[in-house]
Amino acid sequence: MSDEKITLTIGRQKNIALIAHDSKKKELIAWCEANKEILKKHFLCGTGTTARMITEATGLPVRGYNSGPLGGDQQIGAKIVEGRVDFVVFFSDPLAAQPHDPDVKALLRIAQVYDIPIANNKATADFMITSSYMDEEYYHDVVNFQRNIEQRAKTL
Ligand code: PGA
Repeated sequence: MSDEKITLTIGRQKNIALIAHDSKKKELIAWCEANKEILKKHFLCGTGTTARMITEATGLPVRGYNSGPLGGDQQIGAKIVEGRVDFVVFFSDPLAAQPHDPDVKALLRIAQVYDIPIANNKATADFMITSSYMDEEYYHDVVNFQRNIEQRAKTL
């Protein structure tokens, strides 16, 4: 492999971020309840309100960041960059305008850059959570950021 890419590992125990827009919170809570036995084997976090509501409804420990409109999506995006979130379930609302739409787009984009599995609806989340990779390490190639900086600093 060229040094443009670097191989990273998503561990057996995933760092899962859970986010739901308001109209989707009930659906995500029900999904967490249905998949509780799997989810409890992993580390969970989420945007503030979603995290709290999941914990209250299911008893699963979910570390809460700020509420989404107050920067929670950006915090989760930053964790992806740092390699501390490697799996995202984000039930977004396609029918309602969001005040933090730029943050939502930024999160989707950064998950794409870092090749992070991200579900934005229940069917995708169902396929992801039942994947055999949930119990295995997963290796993926992402942009070699150190190399990228070296090249850019040399050529720009
Ligand atoms: P919340 O944020 O969990 O704090 O409601 C979710 C969002 O709207 O992005």
